[in-house]
Amino acid sequence: MTVALVGAGPGDPDLLTVRAARLLAHADVVVHDALVGDGVLALVPPDAEVVDVGKRPGRPVPQELISTLLVELGRQGKQVVRLKGGDPFVFGRGGEEALALRAAGIEVEVVPGITSSVAAPAAAGIPVTHRGVAAAVTTVTGHRRAGEPDIDWRALARVGGTIVVLMGVAQRAVIAAELMAGGLAADTPVATVHRATTDAQVVDRCSLAGLCDHPVRSPAVIVIGPVAALDVTALLDSAAINAS
Ligand code: SAH
Repeated sequence: MTVALVGAGPGDPDLLTVRAARLLAHADVVVHDALVGDGVLALVPPDAEVVDVGKRPGRPVPQELISTLLVELGRQGKQVVRLKGGDPFVFGRGGEEALALRAAGIEVEVVPGITSSVAAPAAAGIPVTHRGVAAAVTTVTGHRRAGEPDIDWRALARVGGTIVVLMGVAQRAVIAAELMAGGLAADTPVATVHRATTDAQVVDRCSLAGLCDHPVRSPAVIVIGPVAALDVTALLDSAAINAS
């Protein structure tokens, strides 16, 4: 009895790990989140059962219910793939599901995935660290539930380097204001990447002060810091053009 907690990567099925693709090809049941794209789901065998437990606004699926479902499926001895967007342990609640499965005596295999916190900036040509520009990267959630401690954005502003915010679209005005109150310059570059590595990808750039008024659609990753002004893939393109 093993349930595999598998990272689906940011969206493009080519960014699955080989292990993830192998497990998907042999799955009896796939339990997936809202973030897992159609391209990845197309790799699920036609006779496999597919369960969408995506938590969407207005239609929440309680976490306990998901864990209970995984335990039940695991006990049936099926090849169960719990598929999560990006990496299962980066804001994916994979840790909680692994603990619930272990508590029920079911073995857990964890297959890391390419997290959007790196892949979304990369899709915009942004290296999250860059020699001489950013020597640190902080990945942080912009979404706190009632009772959870707030992020100390002002302290984060003093860390330096790159700040990558997941689930931050709704709170972006507060986040920008707090980071500026903590000392980040109003003209600090910002990039937003919506649905990275899918056909619906949208990259936008603005300043930290401009982030509040900037229309951004969820899901998006918000990249804050000097690297957000870069597009190294565009530079490579123009270098190639210049050389020709
Ligand atoms: N485990 C996931 C993150 C889950 S939290 C990972 O490692 O990527 C959900 C948030 O991830 C979204 O609100 C958004 O901020 C970000 N996200 C996930 N996939 C994305 C994508 N393809 N493009 C942009 N943002 C994405």
